[in-house]
Amino acid sequence: MEAVKNENNEEFVVHNLSEDMIEERLLPAMNKSDMCTCPRCRADVRSYALNHYPAQYVVSTRGNAWVLARGVSAQTNADLLSAIMQGIALVKKDPRH
Ligand SMILES: [Zn+2]
Repeated sequence: MEAVKNENNEEFVVHNLSEDMIEERLLPAMNKSDMCTCPRCRADVRSYALNHYPAQYVVSTRGNAWVLARGVSAQTNADLLSAIMQGIALVKKDPRH
């Protein structure tokens, strides 16, 4: 995460909304897949999914809650789950914990 301040000392933060959208789907998907959910395996699936789903950056001032996209489209949801499920398949087959 990168922070930039302007002349009024306001701090602007660049945040990837895809991280939030993947995070909220990560553990439920892993639980359904009957696999290890230790911190290393969660991090490996998260990292795979983030590398295979486009980043969606937004700018916010620090301290403000992110404006989360509520109710993503069915296609977006399917794409997010697809990236997560690919990561799950790889990590489940060859866990690095
Ligand atoms: Zn594990």
